[in-house]
Formats: sequence, C-alpha cells, structure tokens
Amino acid sequence: MMYIDPHIHVTSRTTDDYEAMQKAGIVAVIEPAFWLGQARTKIGSFQDYFSSLVGWERFRAKQFGIVHYCTMGLNSREANNVALAEEVMELLPLYVSKEGVVAIGEIGYDDQTEAEDRFYRLQLELAKEVDLPVMIHTPHRDKKKGTIRSMDVSEEHGLAPGMVIVDHNNEETAKDVLDRGYWAAFTIYPHTKMGSERMVDIVRQYGPERIIVNSAADWGISDPLAVPKTANLMREKGIPEEHIKMTCYGNALKAYGQSGQMDEKDWLEKEPIDQTKKMGGNTVLRGGQNPRIENDSSNIIEN
Ligand SMILES: [Zn+2]
Repeated sequence: MMYIDPHIHVTSRTTDDYEAMQKAGIVAVIEPAFWLGQARTKIGSFQDYFSSLVGWERFRAKQFGIVHYCTMGLNSREANNVALAEEVMELLPLYVSKEGVVAIGEIGYDDQTEAEDRFYRLQLELAKEVDLPVMIHTPHRDKKKGTIRSMDVSEEHGLAPGMVIVDHNNEETAKDVLDRGYWAAFTIYPHTKMGSERMVDIVRQYGPERIIVNSAADWGISDPLAVPKTANLMREKGIPEEHIKMTCYGNALKAYGQSGQMDEKDWLEKEPIDQTKKMGGNTVLRGGQNPRIENDSSNIIEN
C-alpha cells in the first residue's frame, strides 16, 4: 500500500522519521510553508526558508526514498506583522513557480484579524494568477466561523471550490466544506482533538469522496506516521480498501496534481536511493556511515 502525507513539516523532523515513514508506505509528502514557532523578524529569514523547501529539504527527503513537494505562502500568524508581510508578498512570486510547488498555502485565518484577511485575499489572487490550488489553514479557535468565512472569501475572489483544499477540519465543519464542493482535509493529532478513531467515523459517515487525511506533523507533539496508522485502523474497522486508498493517497494526488507539479510517475519511476549524492557539497551522511544505495531492482514499489 502506498500513502501520501499531504501536510507535514518535515524540516522539523528527524532522519529516523523519514526512515519510518518510508517503511510504513509513505511515498510522497507535501510540506506547507508555515511559521517557525517564533516570529520571523527579517525578510531574509523567509527567503532562506522558502529556498530550503524547494532545495535542501526536497533533496534530503529523496535520500530516504520519499518525494517531497511543498506549498508557498505567508502563514496567517505572520500576516499580522504588516510591514514584513508586505515584503513577503513581493518575494512570493519568485517561488510559486519553482519545481515541486503544488499550491499556495497554508493561508487563511488564525485570529481572524483585519491583517490576516488582507493577506489571505492577496494570496487568493496570487493563486488565481498562477493557476495553483490553495491550501487553507482553518483557525483552531472559533473554527466553524473561520472555516465558513474562508470559503466565503475564496468564492468572493472567484476561486473554484475544486481548486481549494480546506484543512484541519473536524466533525463541526466537515458537512459544510463537503457540501460546498471543497476538498476536506483532516489532521490527525495524537492524544487530542482529531484522532484516528474519529477519522474512521467521518469516512464511514461521509464516504471517501474529497476527504484527505494528513498528519500536519511539525516540531510539536505530532505523529509523522498518522496517515498509515489511520489507514490501518480504517482497515481494522472494515472500511473498504478503495476508500482507504482514496482518503490516504488518491484524493491528495488528485487535488494537488492540479498544479501540474505532482504525478504518480514521480515515485513509481523514481531514481534508486543513493545516499552518497551531494547537494551543494553536503550529504545526509555523517563521518564513516554506510550509505544506503539501492539498485534498480530493489526500487520496485508494491501497488
Ligand atoms: Zn501546518
């Protein structure tokens, strides 16, 4: 079985995580641009971060057999530093058309401030201009209201619901998002909020159409194996295999594949792993370690 984790901040995860993810069947990840846990103070900090998302991190994932994509955007929290946010809006066009960028995101509302609204709208316009899907981060506080507002504003700007992935849904928002024709993504948080058990119930209730499962794993308490673990739980609870494939693989590919940047061939026909490879003179190996090198025949993925 192959899985995609379409929302994970792998930059903040370890090589052990990458190894475990590949072992569990994850073939591709999408890393949305977001904040660092503390506010950035300079535009250069955004620039280097965006460069690493299309550069080093994409390379690093490949050394562990995982295809890495990303989304570009100004996150809603940092939209509240208006002067810096304006500079980010000037920087973004340089990055949105780079290889492996599959959406504008994660954008939307956090505290639902005026500044957040302004930069959300500007980025919806940017997405339209470059014809990329949008990944919407819905607020953790006042979620229902923020989710409805995100969709209303997106429609005001003329985006087709089919080009928009609304993320971090729960039982309260799922129906509205699906009824209005959007992709509904669900983040599985260990121990709290949306757990795997609740996800199984949602798939049972709504079916697999346009539902996407992700981990949103980052530097906080989160689980980079949330997608395969949820898939296994679905299997245990009798959810049909086809529905598991859609929610944990196929729907994400369809939604973000609309970018023209993501194709099944990317992992079905990928080059064998060769950890001796370098990027800018740097490898993932540390003094004296044995590199993992696959030959072509060991690169066969079971479908
Ligand atoms: Zn995120």
